[in-house]
Amino acid sequence: PGLDELSARVSVCRACPRLVAWREEVARTRRRAYSSEDYWGRPIPGWGDEDAPVVVVGLAPAAHGGNRTGRIFTGDASGDFLFAGLHRAGLAVLPTSTSADDGQRLVGVRMLAAVRCAPPDNRPTPAERDACAPWMHRELALLRARVALVLGGFAWQALLSSLAAQGVAVPRPRPRFGHGTEVRVGALTLVGSYHPSQQNTFTGRLTAAMLDRVLEQVLAHARF
Ligand code: SF4
Repeated sequence: PGLDELSARVSVCRACPRLVAWREEVARTRRRAYSSEDYWGRPIPGWGDEDAPVVVVGLAPAAHGGNRTGRIFTGDASGDFLFAGLHRAGLAVLPTSTSADDGQRLVGVRMLAAVRCAPPDNRPTPAERDACAPWMHRELALLRARVALVLGGFAWQALLSSLAAQGVAVPRPRPRFGHGTEVRVGALTLVGSYHPSQQNTFTGRLTAAMLDRVLEQVLAHARF
């Protein structure tokens, strides 16, 4: 299948009972601030350019972010931080990402989550990560990305597993995740960044300047 068909298929996946129950319960009960909105409440497909040189790999949609808006990193504080950086780097046309029809557009970037459904406490289990991995490696196989911005250690491990599943030679021992770490795996250069969760951005573990530096690394490999 092409990317559109893949997106249609993933958006109706029900392979993980715990996550299906959670995403649907959150969509039913809603947060008070969004009580008048219809939540998406389903898996989040990839988003962005089909022939993008850059792929951004996140962890999983937030319960009231992507799980609400239907678009990854859209409608929550992590997305605000990330999109401000992408916009500064010329990779997004707007500095914010608030809803699926906000006019935002990625430039040379495809974005996807290692786990496509919102997990309780933002923590998928290893079994859920493995169940979702085929969606990532099918999508990566359809892209021609040269560089991956990998947000956090969980996404880093999931991406390496997906590449291994595609038959790409992943170095052993596996390269360790770190902020600013770069490693070439097959045709793809991975650049690690701390995840733009509020836990990291509110504590200063990930600052805007740090994000800008890893985005410079990404741009250097993207060869626009
Ligand atoms: Fe399907 Fe992935 Fe959602 Fe599990 S997390 S139900 S594999 S889309």
